[in-house]
Amino acid sequence: MLKEAPKPAIGPGDVLIRVRAAGICGTDVHIYDWDRWSQNRIRPPLIIGHEFVGEIVEIGQNVRHVKPGQRVSAEGHIGCGHCEFCRTGQAHICNDVRIIGVDRDGCFAEYISIEAGNLWPVPDVIPDHLAAVFDPLGNAMHTVMAEPVAGKSILITGAGTIGLFAVAIAHYAGAATIMVIEPNAFKRGLASEVGADVLLDPGTEGLEQEVLDRTDGLGPQVLLEMSGNPNAINQGFRLLRNGGCACLLGIPPDKVTLDLAKDIIFKGVTIRAINGRRMFDTWYQSQNFLFAEQQRVERLVTHRLPFEQYERGFELLKNGTAVKVVLELTASEG
Ligand code: NAD
Ligand code: ZN
Repeated sequence: MLKEAPKPAIGPGDVLIRVRAAGICGTDVHIYDWDRWSQNRIRPPLIIGHEFVGEIVEIGQNVRHVKPGQRVSAEGHIGCGHCEFCRTGQAHICNDVRIIGVDRDGCFAEYISIEAGNLWPVPDVIPDHLAAVFDPLGNAMHTVMAEPVAGKSILITGAGTIGLFAVAIAHYAGAATIMVIEPNAFKRGLASEVGADVLLDPGTEGLEQEVLDRTDGLGPQVLLEMSGNPNAINQGFRLLRNGGCACLLGIPPDKVTLDLAKDIIFKGVTIRAINGRRMFDTWYQSQNFLFAEQQRVERLVTHRLPFEQYERGFELLKNGTAVKVVLELTASEG
């Protein structure tokens, strides 16, 4: 629901940003649909949205490193700043993390206030509609960079928004073969455009044999699980070769049953669990990737809509005909 809200106040260490563009994330769709997860997690009233780029309009009295007028995106996970995780470069797993658009007001508004330490100044060469997607691009980057992929066979389960970004990043990072399992034909087509070599529909008979045939009968060396679907998770582990590494990003809706002994322990599999983005290693990597591969990211921002057409954006995502939808706000005075 679109409503008038007061301009947010800023503290001494915060900045006020006028939002220029904001991406719609799967999380926003969950909240929009008010599903079980949202009902348990979200405390309304809340301004949702966490992927954005904007222009600084005001800075708190203690803020030194940025100025009004600067274009910025921001890390939306706000660590407490003083726990052991935050103090050892692992703020992405801070126990007291607060997420914009989930735990506190987000970016689907004209203005957002945020801690200056979370800002990511955006270079002029990166246009608004791409700067707005640093957050999901960073999820993909964090997952692909968790395990070396150069020269290896990679299986990506789930070529949704983040899985498709991961295809492009794995290609950029020198993966030898990128195999993708994804039920949506439109998304499989895009996966091929941004660098996938083998496209598979999970409903197809003989799929697992095909993956084995493409990997000398051994299975892929790295699994990037980006669907959160329990069948895909099990299929991924079943296919992963002995000594392989599974990087898990997808979040299943419930507890998942795995054949731990057969598919993981006896195979000597390594599991890397991925949460958010590393602060700020992932951001530097994502920015360098954007400099090098802007066209591929451009291909995956399938829709740019005026902010007022947000309902259409949500519908496009729900019916699987969009990958990344970016809402654009026309600058208004005040
Ligand atoms: P998405 O919905 O765009 O992508 C999921 C894709 O999985 C869809 O394209 C869907 O068709 C596909 N899929 C469904 N069943 C499948 C199956 N059996 N085999 C293969 N693919 C299948 O979501 P997204 O925004 O790209 O996010 C991907 C996942 O990552 C979600 O589970 C999301 O909740 C999670 N996520 C995790 C983090 C994190 O920090 N760990 C951050 C953001 C999102
Ligand atoms: Zn912390």
